[in-house]
Amino acid sequence: MKTPAGSECPHFYGDYFRGRNVEECRLLKAAGQRWTPDLCRTCPVPGIARANACEFLKLNATVGRPLMAVFQRRVQVTAYCEKSKRNVLEPQVGCGECHALPFKFEIKP
Ligand code: SF4
Repeated sequence: MKTPAGSECPHFYGDYFRGRNVEECRLLKAAGQRWTPDLCRTCPVPGIARANACEFLKLNATVGRPLMAVFQRRVQVTAYCEKSKRNVLEPQVGCGECHALPFKFEIKP
């Protein structure tokens, strides 16, 4: 579903049926964090979802104020792979268990 920022996000839920106006981020809701629509503008989750559709990748989101933008609340994401049972440093790329990295190219004579 499209977020208020216009990007497709698997965790955004909006209910506008018959005059309702319910919007929520289910990723932040599951983490017990308060969501506001402005968070979607800078959130990395839609980009991660576009780059990596791995079913074993689980995201954990928190809202914080990073040093670079002290006055702005931002979504910060950590990722965990349920298959390899380890933290994933680059969620866009994945842990490398299912799709070995780096790819090997062999040139045979
Ligand atoms: S805050 Fe991020 S994860 Fe939540 S709905 Fe917006 S874009 Fe999706």
